[in-house]
Amino acid sequence: MAHPALLAAGLRRAGNRMLDIVLPPRCLKCGTTVDSVGVLCARCWPAVAFLAAPQCAACGLPFEIDLGPAALCGACAGERPVFERARAAFRYDDDSKDLVLRFKHADRTDSAPAFARWMARAGEGLLADADLVAPVPLHWLRLFMRRYNQAALLASELGRQSGKPAVNDLLLRRRRTPSQGGLGALARHRNVAGAFAVDPRRRPLLQDKRVLLIDDVLTTGATVSACASVLLRSGARAVDVLTLARVVRIAG
Ligand SMILES: [Zn+2]
Ligand SMILES: [Zn+2]
Repeated sequence: MAHPALLAAGLRRAGNRMLDIVLPPRCLKCGTTVDSVGVLCARCWPAVAFLAAPQCAACGLPFEIDLGPAALCGACAGERPVFERARAAFRYDDDSKDLVLRFKHADRTDSAPAFARWMARAGEGLLADADLVAPVPLHWLRLFMRRYNQAALLASELGRQSGKPAVNDLLLRRRRTPSQGGLGALARHRNVAGAFAVDPRRRPLLQDKRVLLIDDVLTTGATVSACASVLLRSGARAVDVLTLARVVRIAG
């Protein structure tokens, strides 16, 4: 006899599948009816600013003009990030915000396969070079309240689509950090310092490996930098970062 919780989860999954059959597919952003699963409608598609070259070779900041594949932005030329390269599928702004927030808070987990495809396109080289993919972890209490880690969903999908191993419990969040919203760059770095650790049981997996770290949104890079530092200290050869979206600040 299956455990009641498992049974309930199974029924829920079966229910979701039935809903997929009965209900027409919906736009990932506005929810209007569309022709196929995992797409944006014709009105939402142009509103999302997908990111591509030319961009900073390190942090992926988009450039107005093409300065060559090795060009760095001012910040990265001044001090290289802890991670080697970061790429994101689209710009996080007022137009794309609800896409991310629905995925994070409103159970639109069905967006994960499409999001992972967009991320794989934006981070093609990073994914090809990766030995394994791993998400930025949520604290267990937040995971309990939210029921899923959106970064882990993306990492699992990327793993499934690319054939790269996704190690969702590679990193642990040791303490609960206050929300980063409203904090400046320095405060964000302080906020996450010491918050992450490599699961000791996963440490052997990591040795001399190139890790592709997955998160939903890159803002100042404080969180992924804290994770990258821990991974490198624990034996990773290099860390790249792939996110669904990133904040793009206008220089000046
Ligand atoms: Zn739409
Ligand atoms: Zn840069």
